[in-house]
Amino acid sequence: MNTIQHLINGELVAEGSASLPVYNPATGESTSCVDVASAQTVEEAVRRAKEAYPAWRNTPPIRRARIMQKFVQLLEENADEICALIGQEHGKIRHDAMGELQRGIENVEYACGITELLKGEHTRNVGPGIDAWSEFQPLGVVAGITPFNFPVMVPLWMYPLAIACGNCFILKPSERVPSSTLLVAKLLHEAGLPPGVMNVVNGDKNTVDALLDHPDVSAVSFVGSTPVAESIYARASAAGKRCQALGGAKNHAIVMPDADLDNAVSQLLGAAFGSSGERCMALSVVTVVGDSTADLLVEKLNTQMAALKVGGCQDDSNDFGPVITAAHRDRVVSLITSAQSQGASVVVDGREPAIKGHENGFFVGATLIDHVKPDMESYQQEIFGPVLQVVRVDTMAQAMQLINDHEYGNGTCIFTRDGEAARYFSDHIEVGMVGVNVPLPVPVSYHSFGGWKRSFFGDLSAYGPDGVRFYTRRKTITQRWPSEAVREGVSFSMPVMK
Ligand code: NAD
Repeated sequence: MNTIQHLINGELVAEGSASLPVYNPATGESTSCVDVASAQTVEEAVRRAKEAYPAWRNTPPIRRARIMQKFVQLLEENADEICALIGQEHGKIRHDAMGELQRGIENVEYACGITELLKGEHTRNVGPGIDAWSEFQPLGVVAGITPFNFPVMVPLWMYPLAIACGNCFILKPSERVPSSTLLVAKLLHEAGLPPGVMNVVNGDKNTVDALLDHPDVSAVSFVGSTPVAESIYARASAAGKRCQALGGAKNHAIVMPDADLDNAVSQLLGAAFGSSGERCMALSVVTVVGDSTADLLVEKLNTQMAALKVGGCQDDSNDFGPVITAAHRDRVVSLITSAQSQGASVVVDGREPAIKGHENGFFVGATLIDHVKPDMESYQQEIFGPVLQVVRVDTMAQAMQLINDHEYGNGTCIFTRDGEAARYFSDHIEVGMVGVNVPLPVPVSYHSFGGWKRSFFGDLSAYGPDGVRFYTRRKTITQRWPSEAVREGVSFSMPVMK
């Protein structure tokens, strides 16, 4: 069986002792296994990264940018292979995997502009003959820990920018989907990255803990579930590391009575069921204002859901594939059952999908639940599956209150034709990423990505301008070259400009 190794100092490295099985979720079969890095392996990766840092830090940004440009080209040339690996381990349909890769490439394209992004701030004559400037210096060795649901895009949120800023990087990908992540990291080396600048250590919690506790790791970027994000943020911060930890979500859409309902239905279907609902920006709750609008919306959703196609990743006509594991499928099914037993009505039931040729796969069909109430477990928890829940309310204010009261605050969207309502919503909703008739408002690579409340722990969001700030620290230099004209005598007072 194929074993997925680590990538340290530009070389594939075998662990030899511990490994975990990797599954194809569409067949339920184990396809390979992935090595689990011990504390010694993490130590070796950090040592190599630390060794590579002085030369990389001093490499002119334009040279770093050129490597990123070549990396973009290699990602495009190898798109089919990358997406096939995403499909094999995640189950994502090819068209969806291509979209993931494209969004990842856009983050590399942003990093290609590092010469512009690292320009500092300069002021001449802050005092007589004195100039001051701020520059943005790299942090050293930084680590990234990523989730299963975007094996290529989320790592690309992190390391291209971190590396372009002059840092060395250690990535701990999800142990469930390691192959595409590793292939992409190998392509970065093919693009000309010096050994040690980018390293991949596979593994689990113990591997993560070794990274978090290592004194030479200066900063940690994490993306995953909220309980893990919270604990990683606490542990990294307690060790004095800079940390950004992005967590889970429960993204609500509001459908107003004046919305273009046919458009809202199409957008909701894609945003709720695309990628089997395993996106942190998936719309999993639709809050409908007014019973007559809700009746109409549910009827239209019900009709269109009958045409959704679920199946394997190679068939581009499928809309979405399996969920990630058997245990996750069972959890999604049990949350649907709990909603039903707490009084909600299951309008479209995906608990027992019959998918020919995939009898042992981890599938859940598209599910629509109406009359969901805020005290239900299925409403409170992130389901992370192809389940759309309808909550009926009387007013927009009630819909907004529900969203603002929810513990998560990642993404949200309002469907309306009323500009005033949309503006009020964008202004007052307590969520980090807001769409107006845009169901998945994932910020483009030159903005930054971050939720609010328990969807995010930290100060600086992921990628874009916040990413540059996260992966650098400001140094401010005040400089005078004494000359006759500006020489000053002794002064014991605080220096001021009179
Ligand atoms: P997860 O939290 O189980 O795992 C994420 C990473 O953390 C993996 O690399 C895993 O090996 C590691 N990990 C798991 N448990 C750990 C522990 N106890 N200590 C240290 N490390 C640990 O998440 P997942 O199931 O891979 O991904 C799905 C979750 O990620 C969902 O909650 C989803 O909303 C969230 N997510 C959030 C965003 C965002 O941008 N906010 C993006 C994608 C996914």
